[in-house]
Order: sequence, then structure tokens, then C-alpha cells
Amino acid sequence: MLERGEVANSWRTQRWESLRLLTPNWQSRLPALRYEGADPDGYMTVPEVVDFIGRFAKLSAAPVRSSVTVTSVQRVDGDYLVATDRGKFRCQAVVVASGACNLPTVPSLTDAVPQSITQVTPFDYRGPAQLPDGGVLVVGASATGVQLAAEIRRSGRPVTLSVGEHVRLPRTYRGRDVLWWMDASGVWDQRYDEVEDLTRARRLPSPQLVGTPERSTLDLNALSETGVALVGRLATVRDGAALFSGGLRSLIALADLKMDRLLDGFDEWARVDGRDADVDPPERFAVTAMPERPRLQVDLRSGEIRTIVWATGFRPDYRWLDVPVVDAKGQLRHEGGVVDSPGLYALGLPVLLRRKSTFIHGIEDDAREVIGHLAGYLAGRK
Ligand SMILES: Cc1cc2nc3c(=O)[nH]c(=O)nc-3n(C[C@H](O)[C@H](O)[C@H](O)COP(=O)(O)OP(=O)(O)OC[C@H]3O[C@@H](n4cnc5c(N)ncnc54)[C@H](O)[C@@H]3O)c2cc1C
Repeated sequence: MLERGEVANSWRTQRWESLRLLTPNWQSRLPALRYEGADPDGYMTVPEVVDFIGRFAKLSAAPVRSSVTVTSVQRVDGDYLVATDRGKFRCQAVVVASGACNLPTVPSLTDAVPQSITQVTPFDYRGPAQLPDGGVLVVGASATGVQLAAEIRRSGRPVTLSVGEHVRLPRTYRGRDVLWWMDASGVWDQRYDEVEDLTRARRLPSPQLVGTPERSTLDLNALSETGVALVGRLATVRDGAALFSGGLRSLIALADLKMDRLLDGFDEWARVDGRDADVDPPERFAVTAMPERPRLQVDLRSGEIRTIVWATGFRPDYRWLDVPVVDAKGQLRHEGGVVDSPGLYALGLPVLLRRKSTFIHGIEDDAREVIGHLAGYLAGRK
């Protein structure tokens, strides 16, 4: 196992200070390692995640070679030649487990943003104190965007949130964590080959959730109540002005509709599975309040906005992979983790084998299947 940093490197180096997992403690399950602390319904802080993954590395005695950066992987005579900053390896098979979120995705229109504006990605952001005083435009309203918008607003700065496609979820539903429902009802176990539109499912933004001790819901209504101004999707930056799409109303309506459909599915599962007595009665949440007149543009030269936070997603980085298996969109071509090159495998990508594939608790089932295939491949080579 080659790791360019230390075990849990992404959690040590690429997360903001206040971040907690949005998955509850009881759900952080790894093979033979379960959360056994006093707060199973709480949410781990980043140092706690680092500790948890570190404990798993010790427990599993994984042969990790840390501080080794892979610089190239090539296919040579049916094997793979792996070049690193600490020498070369020749191997029969390679598992690409380098993560789905190596780089922040930032739209190309950053170049058109006036120089007076500070631009920050979630990888640079540590906390509001590092930002200049004044207004902040947060672009993107998925898990990262809503969490950063809320935190920056609490620091007293005016915050405008540009809302694109998003997934609305309540933190708790019928008295249970909404992720308990995803887990218990089997939504998270749904396999990639059962998903209706796999391409879409793999691109689905992360849900609007935050892990707080209060188990609070962080949706657009909660943000509006704190004074965050909602605007539509950022369409472009032209002549120093940020221009927002007029489609906010339909995006909000769609997210509300999809949330209700998911909750309907949970209710149906509880009824059929005989769980109604274990949970509170069904509930529905207020529709998302549409701002009266959402602004369609903001002049970025006026001084109103001093910072833009690009919470526009993350992507993997395969610049080191010299095997022609990456498509035009920068994604690995694979079938359930079996990459389109003999002996090459992947883990930890969105809906790799199941809906839970990118979550900490999703790795166990996926790894078992992918490594099963790999073992068969190696046996076949003998
Ligand atoms: C902001 C954020 C919040 C998240 N919150 C949650 C959550 O609440 N719950 C949850 O279950 N999941 C969450 N996730 C998903 C989380 O990242 C995964 O659950 C988990 O960290 C994925 O582990 P991984 O090993 O697949 O990828 P990573 O953690 O990204 O690990 C990949 C490793 O590969 C190393 N690497 C990459 N390239 C090279 C190279 N060329 N050479 C050598 N080493 C290399 C990296 O240093 C890194 O350590 C979150 C992700 C992000 C970005």
C-alpha cells in the first residue's frame, strides 16, 4: 500500500477545522472495527476520524508505506510498472484507491473574477477568520456549501449562497437520523446495476447535511432564517458581475419533491417491514421558502462581495495514471470496480458497486467483491 502522506492523509490535510462527519458514529464501520464510544448518534470531528482510520490501519496490520507518491503507472508486458518518488515496483495487479475527492472542482469562469476578490476552495478554507471582512459569495449548496455558508454567516459576514442542483434532507426523520433510514431500508445497499440512471447517480451532489451535537437540519430554510441570501445557479461572470440563473424556484421545488419521494419510500418500507411501532409517526417538512426577489446579478467590483468560496464539488486526480482508462470527463472506466485494463481495479468511487461506495462504511462490501475478482485474476495468471 503506497500512501503519499500518512494514513488518513486526506482527513489530515484537506478538511476545514469545524468539519464533522455527516454520517453518525454508529455508521462508521470498518471490518472488525466499530464505534464503541459513549455517543453513537454523534458525529466525529476530523481528529477523531484520523484516529479511527489510524486505529484500523494498526488493527488490520495493513502494509502501508507512507510518504511514497506514485508518479506513474504503466502497463508493460502484461504487468504494471509503478513509478514513485521512492523507486519503482513491478506488479501483476494494481488497486486504485487514491480517492474520489483529490481536487476541488472549480468552474473555468474563475479567470473572469476581478482580482480584488479573494477566491477560496474547500481545500484552502480552514475557518472564517482567514477570510477578509465583508461579504462572501458561496457557490454551491451541497454539503460543503451549506456548511461553509452557515459557518461564515455565524462569523457576522453577509453571505450570498448560489444554489444549483441540490439534495435536501432533514437531519432526523420520525425520530431517527435520516441516514439510519438510508441504511435500514436498504437504499444505501442498492447495487450499481440496479440503479436506473447510473451516470446521474454517480454525479449526484452530496446531501445538505451537517453533523452537529444538536443534530440540527441545515437546509435552505435554516440558512435563510440566519440571513443567508439565496440566489440561483452562477451562470457566468461578465464585465465584473456575477450573473445568476433565474431557475431557482424550479430547483428548490425539485429538491422538495425528491425529498418527499424519499420519505414516502421510507414510510412504505417501515409499514411493510413492520417498523412503524419503533419510530415516530410520519412527518412532512415545510416547503423551501423562495426568496421574494432573488438577485440575478451582483457587481463584484462594488466591494459588496470580498470573497468567493467555490463549493462546487470535488474530483479525482489521475494525472499519474498512464493507462488509457480515464474518460474525457476525467472518470475511470470501470465495471463495478473492475477497470478496463486487465489486473487494474478501483475502490472508493461514487456508486462503484453500491450507493454507499464512497462512505467509510461502504468500503467493506465493495472491497470484498473487488478483491475477490482480483484474486481470481491472479490465480488465472499462474
Ligand atoms: C469534505 C468531505 C466530507 C466527507 N464526509 C464524509 C462523511 O461524513 N462520512 C463518510 O463516510 N465519508 C465522508 N466523506 C467521504 C470520505 O472522503 C471517504 O469516506 C473516505 O475518506 C474515502 O477514503 P478513500 O481511502 O477512498 O479516499 P481518500 O480518503 O481520499 O484517500 C486516498 C488516499 O490516497 C492518497 N493518494 C492519492 N494519490 C496518490 C498518489 N499519486 N500516490 C500516493 N498516494 C496517493 C491520498 O494521499 C489519500 O490518503 C467526505 C469527503 C469529503 C471530501
